[in-house]
Amino acid sequence: MKREDMYSSSANTPRTTKRKVKKHGKAYKVMKVLLTLLLSVFLIIIISSSILVTALTIYILNFADTTSSISLENVEVNFTTRFLADNPEYNKEDKTSEQYTLYYSMSNNGEKRTWVDLSNIPMHVQDAFVSTEDAHFQTHDGVDFKRTMAAFINVFIPIYDSNQGGSTITQQVIKNITGDDAQLGGEGYARKIREIFRAINLEKTATKNDILEAYLNIIPLGNNVCGVQAAANYYFSKDVADLSVKEAASLAAIARAPTVYNPVYDYDMNVGRANDFILKNMLDIGAITDNEYKEALAEELHVTGDPDFTTAVENTDNKYECVGVSSYYIDSAINDSIDLIMEADGIDYEDAEDKLQAGGYTIYTNVDLNLQKQVEEKFKDPLNFAYYVPDSDPLKAAFIAMDYSGNVKAVVGDRGEKTVSRSLSYATMARRSPGSSIKPIASYAPALDKDLITYSTLFKDQPIEILNDDGKKEQWPVNYSEDGYSSNWSYNNYFTYQMIYKSLNTAPAQLVERLTPTECFNFLQNTMHLSSLVADEDGKTDDAYSPMTVGEFTYGVYLDELVAAYQIFGNQGKWYRPAFVSKIVDRLGNVVYENKYVPEQAVDSSTGYVMNRMMQTVITNPEGTGRYAKLSNVDLVGKTGTSDKWQNLTFVGCTPEYVSGVWIGYEPLEEINRNLYKNIGQIWKNIFGDAADAGTVKEFSMPDTVKQLKYCKSTGLIAGQNCYNTDIGYYKDSNIPEYCSGNHY
Ligand SMILES: [Zn+2]
Repeated sequence: MKREDMYSSSANTPRTTKRKVKKHGKAYKVMKVLLTLLLSVFLIIIISSSILVTALTIYILNFADTTSSISLENVEVNFTTRFLADNPEYNKEDKTSEQYTLYYSMSNNGEKRTWVDLSNIPMHVQDAFVSTEDAHFQTHDGVDFKRTMAAFINVFIPIYDSNQGGSTITQQVIKNITGDDAQLGGEGYARKIREIFRAINLEKTATKNDILEAYLNIIPLGNNVCGVQAAANYYFSKDVADLSVKEAASLAAIARAPTVYNPVYDYDMNVGRANDFILKNMLDIGAITDNEYKEALAEELHVTGDPDFTTAVENTDNKYECVGVSSYYIDSAINDSIDLIMEADGIDYEDAEDKLQAGGYTIYTNVDLNLQKQVEEKFKDPLNFAYYVPDSDPLKAAFIAMDYSGNVKAVVGDRGEKTVSRSLSYATMARRSPGSSIKPIASYAPALDKDLITYSTLFKDQPIEILNDDGKKEQWPVNYSEDGYSSNWSYNNYFTYQMIYKSLNTAPAQLVERLTPTECFNFLQNTMHLSSLVADEDGKTDDAYSPMTVGEFTYGVYLDELVAAYQIFGNQGKWYRPAFVSKIVDRLGNVVYENKYVPEQAVDSSTGYVMNRMMQTVITNPEGTGRYAKLSNVDLVGKTGTSDKWQNLTFVGCTPEYVSGVWIGYEPLEEINRNLYKNIGQIWKNIFGDAADAGTVKEFSMPDTVKQLKYCKSTGLIAGQNCYNTDIGYYKDSNIPEYCSGNHY
């Protein structure tokens, strides 16, 4: 048909029109050229499109063959691992409070995600998302082609409702699981096609509920929060089960564009979309009633951006900081968990670390939140360590407390503000010389356990003879005064407990000689589980007199292991592995690890208690090296330790409820400034005294196998009829000294 004919068909139109046409008659030719051009372009498009469609079909068919299908069973997305603590508010009787409270959520490349079963996600939360993101979710086969087309056209002609994306919920699950997120160019289309096929496949293998559950758990909702549970925690400090309709709509509003519709950053944008769009959609599909709709519109949102989501420590300065620096306790709990997962799954350290980081574990820690906080506070006050506040205060310090089942209740790994997570902890990662605090476990306890000594065995304060490094005989070891200066041997006789509270070196040397260094070494390594001892390394060994007698080890010992060894003096001889974690549950609820609390009877119960009584004098005797640690309400026993050249000071103390230890020193090693820093017993008391003294159990209990008897202060034997200078001692049933037959006044 010619264009003139087309035009002539309008010949019968009214005159006015005709005249107008005539008036523009010159334009006909221009029009004609233009229309010809248009037709040509049209034809070219048709032809090109045909070629394109053919190519695309081949391309797509190719994809259908090669696209791996995705199943929900091996969802490899990252989940937040959470550390729980006993809730200090928990009331066993009325059960009005939760038994556990969140202590820390592990930062997982900044992402936070907590799995929650669909059955625990309220219907209105599900509806808020489904009605907006994918209204036909329940009926489509994974792909909504009408919407896909609309979204495609939308790229060129933005006329469609841009509040909806082209992807179904199934497709979004695929996208989030695979991380396949190419947006532009050929790769973008390729992704879209892969996604379509995978979505269709997924619908064949998974139920709608499974897909929806995955979707609601992995959808990114801003501020590095993923999934509705983590988002409910983060934005409203609530459990997802407790969200209101308005809050649900607010979360669904974020989904579209998490930075734009984020209620923390732009309350109005978020609420605007929630009101105008999400709630409207919910009303339209009948998910909410008219009244609920009106109520929700009127509800004011209380957006918290909850800092508690990451740490129990209040962080009021930085309200929206969601990735907190972990405490020393959490650092240790993380390390503990990695070891336990390695063991449970038979995998290496890196794999276990990755699993912990992204596995969505729930980890039950042994922390006492009040105690931990209290100790952290005490560490902040320099006057708890020093006599005055110096210009520069380079002292390092560490503290750890556990109960008598090895449950670590509090730990601080250094002084000063903690600025990074998983930093060096002097409580668990540094090997330092324990000095004389090694004596109770290296020599006295094994000797007492073998009935070589009693509470009142008399020792002469004199040296033994050893071969020095040059192979020459040497009188050894020297004693040290309380101030750290060497003192001469007195050649006086002292009872065992006196040797302990005076911290003389001669008695332990004599005991190590009798037991042999090797036996002491084996006891420390195998029974007391000190892991840092060196058997033979480049000619160095801790199987020798000096380490076994005065604690001068090749490297030193870990404070947590030293303190754990002292458990035997408060729980009648039992050793439990020091534990920051009591239980690990994976995200599907399987128990990966649970502490069975199987003790090792390291020494006899009677040995543990008699040692305890002897070490009590360290605190109670006016000459006792630990007298500054004395408490007013609760029994305390312990031992101080000073390493060579006054470089490390340690105190380990046992109260009926806790065994705890403190260490101070410099990095690198240097003589500690005695004029500046307080006595180590005093430092322990400053840090832990209040908590320890508040204990409800005041005294250690004495086992039946121990007898409390009068001994003769002249001979150390059990007081006879004519012994008038006596004192009370504690004796193992298996080794009660004979009666003194002398006349002693
Ligand atoms: Zn006597």
